[in-house]
This record gives sequence, structure tokens and C-alpha cells, in this order.
Amino acid sequence: MIEPNSELIIDYELVRGNIQAIKSILPANCKIMGIIKSNAYGHDLEKSTHAMDDVIDGYGVVRLEEALKIREISLKPILAMQGVYSSDAYDILKKNNIWSVVHSMSQLPLAKQYQDDLLFWIKVNTGMNRLGIAIDELDQFQSLLKDSNVLMTHLACADNPKDKLNNTQFENFDHAWNHLENNMQRSILNSAGVFNFPDQAYDWVRPGIAMYGGIDFPGLKTAMTFRSQIISIQFLDKNERIGYGGRVKTKKPSKIAIVYCGYADGFPQTAIDGTSVIVNSYQSKIIGRVSMDLISIDITDIPDCKIGDWCELWSPDLSIVKNANKNNLISYELMTKMSNRVKRKHLNV
Ligand SMILES: *Cc1c(COP(=O)(O)O)cnc(C)c1O
Repeated sequence: MIEPNSELIIDYELVRGNIQAIKSILPANCKIMGIIKSNAYGHDLEKSTHAMDDVIDGYGVVRLEEALKIREISLKPILAMQGVYSSDAYDILKKNNIWSVVHSMSQLPLAKQYQDDLLFWIKVNTGMNRLGIAIDELDQFQSLLKDSNVLMTHLACADNPKDKLNNTQFENFDHAWNHLENNMQRSILNSAGVFNFPDQAYDWVRPGIAMYGGIDFPGLKTAMTFRSQIISIQFLDKNERIGYGGRVKTKKPSKIAIVYCGYADGFPQTAIDGTSVIVNSYQSKIIGRVSMDLISIDITDIPDCKIGDWCELWSPDLSIVKNANKNNLISYELMTKMSNRVKRKHLNV
């Protein structure tokens, strides 16, 4: 075995496959603003841009520097989703043809100065109460409410279609849009919204997590493989305790493998016993507390398992969603918390 390392392998063919799955449920004229904030949810901003440029219609980011990196690679629309806050930043948007969201009254004076130079997405608050202009404040934005601009909102509960807040938000959005004098384009849906409410797609949708396979819907696959090698194997009797705190006791004679990966690599420290991993195509489970650099797993029932074998923490065959749900976490957080020391490999860019 060469020096072991934890690895994050990103397969962009899977990202493109996920985008096709998103497209397959949308009307043909609906455009996709692929959300690649936070380093493309940990999938590498630049490589993701290269990989998806011919299958999406635009990019949504949060930080201005992300927008500028994409602009070096792609000529497609880029939206600064949380807006900008100074005339210096507006000048940069103008120079690089980057669109901006306006989500608050405080942004209005500057946005008006640039209203003829930039394309704006006007964000209304329909009930999430995070970002967005109150609907009754919209009339103060008159000069920005024009055909070339987009009216947008964001759903608080898109992942739970039974939640009544979804319909409240749709009604509030309809109300706002129906009172406009112009025929603005519309954008409501994030990933879960696309799958749960495709009839609300309108002109633009804004999927992020679905492109990376971080939610469970038909046709989506976890596009990253997080794995590391086994560096030690312990043969234990019944009633022996494992790891820090000795939180777990063997119920029978057991074979335990120690994997070269821990919370300092980005695997959640809080992972509970029974969290699934895959070794040599067999399901195995975490047993004992996750340490900074090591994870212990039960390989009692896995034939021929040896030092140097790879253990997958999540992968296309072991959904990151399953792992997240089991531990009351969300895939978004797992994806964006992968640490720098994990060795990156990129397939099918
Ligand atoms: C992050 C974000 C999205 C994408 O959300 P996903 O759940 O990852 O699809 C869409 N719209 C806005 C405004 C966002 O902040």
C-alpha cells in the first residue's frame, strides 16, 4: 500500500446525468440556473462549470469572486443571488455582465442607479421571512419591475410538499406577480421544488443540491465518492469496548477494521453506530465513536477483508442522503464540509 489518504472522487458524468433527470420533469422552455455556490457544494467550482456548461442555462452564486471565476470559463448568465452592496461591486457586475438579485429596500437606491446597465432579479418575501422585499413594498421598485427582469422568491418547505406554507407562498407570489404592470419572468423553485411542484417551474428554476445527487428523487445519484483505506484490523472477543468513551460493546466475537479517515476529513463526528459504509461491495457499519483521523467499522461478516481495502463513506452506490438522514444531518452540510486534506480526483470533467 502506498501512503494512504482519504479521497473525494467527483464524477461529472453523474452530475450531468442528474441535470438530465431534472430536465426530464420540466417543461421544455423552462431554463435551469444551476446553483454552484460554496464551491459547487464542494464539487469544485471551475470543474463543475466546465462539466455543466452545455447542459444548463446559467449559474447562481453567492460570492462575487465565484461569479468572476465562472465568467472566465463561461459566457452564460450568472446571477449573484444575494446581491451586492457597494457601487464598486456594481461596477464589477456591469463590467462582467453579471446579474444581481435585489432582496431588500436598503439596496434600492444603488440598484436604481444601475437599472439601465444590469439585469435584476427582484426577490419578494412570500413567507420564508429570510431575504426578500415585502409584497406591499414592491410598488417602490416600479422602474425595476420590467420585462427583462425576473421576479423571484424562495420556498421554505419545498422538501415537504405537505407543508401548508408551500401553498401560501405560491398564492403570495401569484398575488405579487398579478399586480405587476409588466410581464416579468418568474422563478420560484429550488431542487426539491422542481421535483415536488413542477407546475410552478415558470421561466427559470434554481436547482443546486439535486445536480449533485444530495436529495432522493428518481434519476438522481450521489456524484461524489468519499472513501479511504483500511489501515488496521482488530479481532475482538464478546463484550469488548471500541474507541473513545468505549461507547459500544461487542455482542459476539468481532472483526473490526480501522479506516484512515475521521472528522478532520469531513466525516461527521456525531455519526452513530449503524451508519452504513461499503467495503468491497459489501455493506458494513460504523461501530464506536468517529475520531479525528480514524473510523472503526464492523467487518465480521465481510469475506476476505484486508488492510488496504477501500471503505466508501458515501458514493453513487451509498447515497449521501441515507447517511445524512441516519444522523439527523443534511447532505448540503456534509458536501460543503469536506476538508482540504482529502485528496481530490475528478472524472469525466
Ligand atoms: C441555495 C439556493 C438554491 C438552491 O437550493 P437547493 O436546495 O440546493 O436546490 C436556490 N435558490 C436560492 C435563492 C438559494 O439560495
